[in-house]
Amino acid sequence: MQKSSPFSLSLHPWSRLLVLGAAMVAVSAGAAAQPPVSTHAQLLTLVDKNAAHWQQVSKQIWDYAELGYHETKSSDLLQGQLKAAGFRVQAGVADEPTAFIASYGEGKPVVAILGEFDALPGLSQQAVPDRDPVKAGAPGHGCGHNLLGSGAGLAAVSLKQYIVEHHIAGTLRYYGTPAEEGGSGKVYMVREGAFKDVDVVLHWHPADRNSVANGGALAVVSAKFTYHGVAAHAAMAPDRGRSALDAVMLMGNGIEFMREHVPSNTRIHYIISKGGVAPNIVPDLAQMDLMARSPSNATLKDIWAWIQNIAKGAELMTGTKLEVKDIGSDANIIANDPLAAVAQKNLEEVGGFTLDPDQKKFAEELQKTFGIDSLPSLDRTNEIEPLRKFDPNQPAASTDVGDISWNVPTIGFSAATWAAGTAAHTWQAAATSGMSIGQQGMVVAAKAIALTAIDLFTDPALVQAAKDDFKKQLAGKSYYTAIPPEQKPLINYRND
Ligand SMILES: [Zn+2]
Ligand SMILES: [Zn+2]
Repeated sequence: MQKSSPFSLSLHPWSRLLVLGAAMVAVSAGAAAQPPVSTHAQLLTLVDKNAAHWQQVSKQIWDYAELGYHETKSSDLLQGQLKAAGFRVQAGVADEPTAFIASYGEGKPVVAILGEFDALPGLSQQAVPDRDPVKAGAPGHGCGHNLLGSGAGLAAVSLKQYIVEHHIAGTLRYYGTPAEEGGSGKVYMVREGAFKDVDVVLHWHPADRNSVANGGALAVVSAKFTYHGVAAHAAMAPDRGRSALDAVMLMGNGIEFMREHVPSNTRIHYIISKGGVAPNIVPDLAQMDLMARSPSNATLKDIWAWIQNIAKGAELMTGTKLEVKDIGSDANIIANDPLAAVAQKNLEEVGGFTLDPDQKKFAEELQKTFGIDSLPSLDRTNEIEPLRKFDPNQPAASTDVGDISWNVPTIGFSAATWAAGTAAHTWQAAATSGMSIGQQGMVVAAKAIALTAIDLFTDPALVQAAKDDFKKQLAGKSYYTAIPPEQKPLINYRND
């Protein structure tokens, strides 16, 4: 049954008319001896025609601002839109209720576009350039995943219209991938085999610049280390107690001594999430919540084994019992050079956009809140960064797109949806993701994805080159995830 949509606009009928109209214009223009309208030009026109609708979708998801694995309304909205546009939708994938796969067409190649739609805790923010939450402490789209999921939808629906009109063979898929923010949602989908017949995966992420992301991101492992000790009077009977907090502190000390001996750009960060209830009671429960990252999945595997040994050492030293749970794991992203070259060409063809006076004022106000001395130029929305090799020593975050890239040739874009200088996971990013700057940047991304996808559908040699490079990049490497095979998606990972 079709899910209800907050919009009265149904994509299917009018979009078909628009496609037919565009095709008729193209034919009659050809008859008037003008040059034929190119595939790319027609596709860009379709994206422009669908853009306003999907910008509304992005705003609705921004309003919903739902946390990972609980993005019910956001997922339903995207599924409904894709169904209305003619996609078959499989809802609920890999034991993730909000994951879905929307497909159109059949046969090879299979080209997939990734959509995310989860928000971050505590980043509720109105679309204004000073700190003003919609609801204090509530979630907000500080990573712009409202734009990410909707931009991917805009690309998918526009591509489908083009594919129908031009009888192009192959399968187009939109993967609704929940809980990117710490839930490793895509890892379980990979494990389930959801990507096993996919030839190429395309993705994008909101940013403060336009660029092609060819590889990169840090592999990450996260887990909660809980120690169970014995409570006792800390003054009168300390010999009867076994301190779980001691174990956590010894584990922390072990990690600090280890830190000297790990490869460059390894990051290990942790908090003491539980540390006892009162100083006069020996703590019988303490917990370290830890994340470790490295540019290399293989290096991280070794570091993770070392950290687990440190944790066991602390258990032995304190006579407590260790429990390791809620393991999250994202791999680093594998580059793909032929895909990157085509993606770069297409992003340059699309170009950026210039801020209008109101947008510029908003962005200038926002930049004043960054507290940094040399502010980058706001003209950056109009620039395309040159294609660069990933520098493993550059600051970087992590994403579960990495696990897909170890299994399928993958390429990604960043699009300027935020004022230059904006960091992800901030209220400033949340503010801009809910207004026209973010929404315009989203269209740049959708266009770049659509052009790259149609190049893949119409050029089998490009798909083959992507596959050949994929094999080359992975020679001598093997995929690794720290998530135990028996662990199911941690639907309530933020509350445990
Ligand atoms: Zn994020
Ligand atoms: Zn993100």
